[in-house]
Amino acid sequence: MSEEQTVSLVDVLEEDEELEEEASAVLAGSDSDHCSYPQGYVKRQALYACNTCTPKGGQAAGVCLACSYKCHEGHNLFELYTKRNFRCDCGNGKFTDAPCKLFHDKEDVNGLNKYSHNFFGEYCTCGRPYPDPEDQVEDEMIQCVLCEDWLHGRHLGCDVPDGVELQEMICESCMTTNVFLWSYAAHLAVPGGAVQSETVAAKEATSSLRAQTDEAAEPSRKRGRVEGKEGPACRLKALEASGVKRVRSGAVFWPSGWRSELCRCDACQGRLAEAGLSFLPDESDTVLAYENKGKRQEGDAPAPDPLMSALDNLNRVQQLEIIHGYNDMKSELKDFLQTFAAEGKVVTSDDIRQFFELQQSRKRRQVDGRFHCA
Ligand SMILES: [Zn+2]
Ligand SMILES: [Zn+2]
Ligand SMILES: [Zn+2]
Ligand SMILES: [Zn+2]
Ligand SMILES: [Zn+2]
Ligand SMILES: [Zn+2]
Repeated sequence: MSEEQTVSLVDVLEEDEELEEEASAVLAGSDSDHCSYPQGYVKRQALYACNTCTPKGGQAAGVCLACSYKCHEGHNLFELYTKRNFRCDCGNGKFTDAPCKLFHDKEDVNGLNKYSHNFFGEYCTCGRPYPDPEDQVEDEMIQCVLCEDWLHGRHLGCDVPDGVELQEMICESCMTTNVFLWSYAAHLAVPGGAVQSETVAAKEATSSLRAQTDEAAEPSRKRGRVEGKEGPACRLKALEASGVKRVRSGAVFWPSGWRSELCRCDACQGRLAEAGLSFLPDESDTVLAYENKGKRQEGDAPAPDPLMSALDNLNRVQQLEIIHGYNDMKSELKDFLQTFAAEGKVVTSDDIRQFFELQQSRKRRQVDGRFHCA
């Protein structure tokens, strides 16, 4: 059993292509070698906040994936997962004595960056850290697609539906700020969240809306009316006029593809822009799209492999470090794993971590040496 597992781990490593695809799915569009600053406000990227360089009480700052490795190694980092439209702050005016080692010529501030309590390691409406040493309740954290805060499942004000990983969530606070979203929610939202008073009516209205849309797309009987001079009708207005209501409380879960259902008429686009939500009708804004970006073949789900299962036991920062390290030193890792196979030992996540820590400290010495000589 243990021998088999070890051998299959090596086998997996032989299949470089498959593994690289997995690694690129985790890293997706984020560059682990070059600071993303020259790209400006990146559509979506992995971000970190450094509690060592910019602790609570000071100004919030976020750094890119490459900077988290190269400029903040060994620091106390908060993982922010991904955020949209952000420009790397590493080494700018917010960092008093930690220059960016990757890109030097930065403006003092990035005026369009948005910051939240996440940048100080606080999450959710309860403002707790994650993981929370004082919280014994098993719960998942879900990111709101508007404010990008992470919320505890139990603090959403609604039940978390099944298949949540394929759905997007908008927190109650963001729903309340953008009232028009409730009209969409009555028709599109995943049922089983906040109590829906008129589920049947909502379903009927949705199907009749679909029928209208189909007719518009394939005009036959009502051709004359559709071609009128008033331009395309506002879908949101049609929804509002249908009179279907939903209880306006709690977070809302949206099924995959829901963004394409949003009205794109001029008035609606203006409203979205005003609310700072122009990204919303854009399917490529989703985290799912970001995660798919790095995969060469989309929709072809790779089989779970033993190395990745071992990595599952590490936190995400460690995972990324290891995958990053792996790309740098495939052959050493292969040799290392071969010794386990030869001895018939099982490779544990601790072994892999130790291997990379050793590799990293070697690399750090090299880098330091170069740095001082220059
Ligand atoms: Zn950077
Ligand atoms: Zn730092
Ligand atoms: Zn940096
Ligand atoms: Zn909470
Ligand atoms: Zn929100
Ligand atoms: Zn509209």
